[in-house]
Amino acid sequence: MGWIEELGKICDVFSASDSYRYDETPPLIAPKPAENFVVVKPADAKEVSRILRFANANNIPVFTRGGGTGLSGGAIPTEEGIVLSTERMTEIEVDIENRVALCGAGVTLKQLDDTAYKHHLSFPPHPGAETATVGGMIATNAGGVRALKYGTMRNYVLGLEVVLADGRILKLGGKTIKNSSGYSLIHLFVGSEGTLGIITRAKIRLFPQLRDMTVLAVPFSTMEDAIDCVVEISAKMLPLALEFMEKKAVEVGEKVSGEKWVSRDGEAHLLMIFESFDEAEEAATISEKFGAINVYAATTKKDQDRLLKIRGLIYEGLRKDIIEILDVCVPPAKIAEYYRKSNEIAARYGVNLITYGHAGDGNVHQHPLIYDDWMNSYFNFREELLRLAVSYGGVISGEHGIGVVKTKELAELFPDQYRIMKEIKHLFDPQGILNPGKVVR
Ligand SMILES: Cc1cc2nc3c(=O)[nH]c(=O)nc-3n(C[C@H](O)[C@H](O)[C@H](O)COP(=O)(O)OP(=O)(O)OC[C@H]3O[C@@H](n4cnc5c(N)ncnc54)[C@H](O)[C@@H]3O)c2cc1C
Repeated sequence: MGWIEELGKICDVFSASDSYRYDETPPLIAPKPAENFVVVKPADAKEVSRILRFANANNIPVFTRGGGTGLSGGAIPTEEGIVLSTERMTEIEVDIENRVALCGAGVTLKQLDDTAYKHHLSFPPHPGAETATVGGMIATNAGGVRALKYGTMRNYVLGLEVVLADGRILKLGGKTIKNSSGYSLIHLFVGSEGTLGIITRAKIRLFPQLRDMTVLAVPFSTMEDAIDCVVEISAKMLPLALEFMEKKAVEVGEKVSGEKWVSRDGEAHLLMIFESFDEAEEAATISEKFGAINVYAATTKKDQDRLLKIRGLIYEGLRKDIIEILDVCVPPAKIAEYYRKSNEIAARYGVNLITYGHAGDGNVHQHPLIYDDWMNSYFNFREELLRLAVSYGGVISGEHGIGVVKTKELAELFPDQYRIMKEIKHLFDPQGILNPGKVVR
């Protein structure tokens, strides 16, 4: 690392510390971080440009880091090089008339939410942990529970400022909602996980504030009944969220939240959120038609928060006991079949799998619990699960990204796509300095 002194002439250089070594990827599956790296904290695109020009000329890997809440190892520095943190790019302003937030890449989700709210607007999707950054959420195309109605991060990016590996600063899009002006380069950077360029600023679409919510909690005897109900509801209306939990997941949520769910009975439980009471009423009638054990409507904020807390804390209750989080996405009507078959595979391998997720959009979160000698069989089990999802026309990650944890499977299961992705990577970053080893190798 004889280049550090030279880099110090361009920007402030900080030494490596644990807070830049890891992200939120469960430790058993996370890649080993490099021993030696340095951290830089540029304030804007010009500074990023100078750093990248230097790194490119000297072939030094650059690992971009936002909030470090990623679950696929994307921000972990896996080689000696530079961690580029966006933590100083936190300026935000709102163009109220055009309903656009102009954000530095390091603006956090909480900051964006609060700022939009202060201007009587909203950023509806809530696609990550509260300390996730705008740059990180764009780079992973983050999703969340409200993606069903309000889409994923992709649907909110109207404009981007990106610095390319050779230091060129690219400004894409603007404040317009429509844009049919040639190839959509913006969307190439959405989901690119720090491998094609560094996002320094973004123009994010805002919405009017959401209306009052009604929450339904509905237990069903079987996952099939629950998902049939989801399919029917989805054909008639667009709830804000349509979540499913198997019984084991509800029990974890109850334990960690200290709250009680609406029923002890039933294998599968739906949590539905509506912006209109009429829709909630219609959904309740449909639920009864599909054999709901009971339908519980929460109309007060206190009651709603209690139920949402149970769902929201499941991951917290599991995080220290799991090998990882799988987040395949299958066509929504296939969830029950995928759930059933994946449990059969789990039983064959002796894996205790806890499943819940976003029923409306098909995104299934599965948590394999740690078991003795898991290293010997776990990766075969995992491969079977990912192959199963793909056999239904699904994808291997619905919202957490490829990072380092799924590059092998991306290459094996989507070979044509992978080949073209490598060519695109080469076009944008011929030296391969940006987040090497992530997404494509
Ligand atoms: C408790 C918890 C809840 C979560 N809930 C959700 C959820 O509901 N939905 C969901 O989709 N995810 C969720 N996540 C995952 C995580 O919050 C998201 O993946 C989020 O988008 C990561 O943002 P970040 O700023 O922390 O990115 P980081 O972890 O810092 O980085 C993620 C990737 O983006 C790249 N990157 C970061 N900033 C930039 C930039 N400016 N330019 C280019 N590349 C960049 C990094 O190199 C890395 O590859 C959750 C995580 C936790 C711990």
